[in-house]
Amino acid sequence: MLPTTNEQGFFEIRLESIGGLGANLAGKMLAEAGVLWSGLNGSNFSSYGSEKKGTPVKSFIRFCEPHIEIRDHSPIMAPHVIGVFHEALAKMVDVTSGLAADGTAVVNSTREFAEIRRDLRLPYGTLAVVDALGIAVEERVKINTPMLGALLRVCSFIEPEAMETVIRRTFSTKAPHLIEANVRAFRRGYEEVRFHTAAASMEAKKFVRPLPRFGYETQLIGGVIVAGGNSLLKNVSGSRQGFLPRWEADKCIHCVACDNVCPDLCFVWEERVDKKGRKQMFLAGLDYQYCKGCLKCVEACPTAALTAERETPGFAEAHSLKYSFSFRKGGAEAWQ
Ligand code: SF4
Ligand code: SF4
Repeated sequence: MLPTTNEQGFFEIRLESIGGLGANLAGKMLAEAGVLWSGLNGSNFSSYGSEKKGTPVKSFIRFCEPHIEIRDHSPIMAPHVIGVFHEALAKMVDVTSGLAADGTAVVNSTREFAEIRRDLRLPYGTLAVVDALGIAVEERVKINTPMLGALLRVCSFIEPEAMETVIRRTFSTKAPHLIEANVRAFRRGYEEVRFHTAAASMEAKKFVRPLPRFGYETQLIGGVIVAGGNSLLKNVSGSRQGFLPRWEADKCIHCVACDNVCPDLCFVWEERVDKKGRKQMFLAGLDYQYCKGCLKCVEACPTAALTAERETPGFAEAHSLKYSFSFRKGGAEAWQ
């Protein structure tokens, strides 16, 4: 029995994620648990761009009672539940856009409720917070199964046993050696999720469809391009999946191995004089604006001057060295 439905009779869920975290599979598994094991009608589809790690992904799940037919296959704009797999996405898109006034946002985070509400611009509804990344790291799985655990506490019309059955069936073909770890991660997500409900006096947020800066209606006369596409203006911090490299200057031998493997121009160098009085390039730090957290540099570093660090809010901003600090200074100043 569904706890609530919209005027079409649907209980709707939207998952907000980035490629590589398993939200697409989570949506499929959740729909399967509702349709095959809980007696509901349901549908699921996902929307994603170039199937590249780090790009935004949305997965949509609709449930209804078995006598209702689902003829609506449009993206979900006013969901009852939103699953936010990646908190940093909120920097780029309004992930809780359209959440029902009594809805629930399930968020992968370790932070306090007030901070999460502020950053998600979500003063109403219920916030369910789970450290899905922490569970995933400890159990050596993706964050989708601990997120499913937390989501199921909200979608209590599906029995946890049904979800476990689906997880076992799914991983029995994909990766049998990961079945037990994923079931454990699911159970931990279910048990460890924390809840906070705000006063229900606020109106729900209106759904806002993200639009391109310039479209066919808003382009400048003559199609003039006033801001040329340039990766130097791009901030890819929302693509990181929870980890970034930490640099310790006193362990660094300035060998450039990190910069050779970094795909994104993150390393900032400066010219200094070495002990013999010769001009040399020295690593000065990282510009985290371009870092997508692939950790190739950590693998390449021969001295452990770079280590993988779980990203905490504000770390990148506090430790980032702007690109203009480097020897490419003249050009960089022109870009800023
Ligand atoms: S690979 Fe390690 S030691 Fe070499 S420059 Fe980079 S941080 Fe320094
Ligand atoms: S993790 Fe390292 S290699 Fe990957 S983008 Fe960031 S700085 Fe570059």
